[in-house]
Amino acid sequence: KQGAEVDGVAFYSADMNQGMHERMRIESGLRHALGSNQLLLHYQPKFSIGDGSIIGAEALVRWQHPERGMVPPGEFIPLAEATGLVVQVGEWVLEAVCAQAQAWKLAGMRPIRLAVNVSAREFTATLPDRVQNTLRRYELEPEWLELEITESTLMHNIDRVIAIMDRISALGVTLSLDDFGTGYSSLSYLKRFPIDTLKIDRSFTTGIPHDSSDCAIASTIISISRQLSLRVIAEGVETVDQLSFLERSGCDEVQGYLYSRPLPPLEFEQALVEKGWA
Ligand code: C2E
Ligand code: CA
Ligand code: CA
Ligand code: CA
Repeated sequence: KQGAEVDGVAFYSADMNQGMHERMRIESGLRHALGSNQLLLHYQPKFSIGDGSIIGAEALVRWQHPERGMVPPGEFIPLAEATGLVVQVGEWVLEAVCAQAQAWKLAGMRPIRLAVNVSAREFTATLPDRVQNTLRRYELEPEWLELEITESTLMHNIDRVIAIMDRISALGVTLSLDDFGTGYSSLSYLKRFPIDTLKIDRSFTTGIPHDSSDCAIASTIISISRQLSLRVIAEGVETVDQLSFLERSGCDEVQGYLYSRPLPPLEFEQALVEKGWA
């Protein structure tokens, strides 16, 4: 790789070209996917630690590619964020989640919060109206919906972001702060945002109970949440040891493979009945 400089440069630019072609291929594929029913959602349940009841589910997008099979979001969301296409993906996701919620509501399910991941680029002044209109069109109470936003979203233009959050929160839709602890938001801002829940990132959960820093960070986030009267959920819970540490530390809610992987809607419905989640 590091041969003569001329070769090095030639190699580098060929590589860059390939990267660009790959990105353009994914982007046009994704554009096509949006119009041809290739996107779908899996739902991962969230549970209350206290009584083990299901309190909601996170909607996670997948791309069912005709040749490449099931493509995970990590392989196309970052690119869609870079190109702006994530806005259309987000519109599709909100629509699909509300359609699913309506179907579950009509089937007699009690309301659970379906959480939608919202990228920074989608977090614009038109979002609250879109959320309101979509809820109205599907005749849904706001209790059916939650938006998960990341710390980086909050850092863009704080006053503008707070105004948007206030309007969403006024609808009765809850907001949770995803990947908490991985960004660099100042704790002092936390009290200014109308946030309901802090979500402890999987990178911290993974180290519990062996990594003392991860344990310290997780229990600190839990204690901050308590003091600010926020709910707190840990994601990526895979072991009983992690669960008992979180329970002892006062965590409210959990989500992770220990309980369930993200499931296609039909399997999610079956699990509700068979595992007694409902
Ligand atoms: P995230 O929001 O942090 O979602 C959690 C990820 O952790 C999901 O990966 C989930 O499947 C995975 N996970 C949950 N429990 C466990 C566990 O116990 N162990 C392990 N190893 N993993 C677990 P997924 O579905 O691949 O999604 C990756 C990321 O893609 C998400 O991270 C989110 O940032 C993004 N994403 C997914 N769906 C959407 C969407 O509809 N819109 C946007 N903007 N982003 C999305
Ligand atoms: Ca999330
Ligand atoms: Ca949450
Ligand atoms: Ca995360």
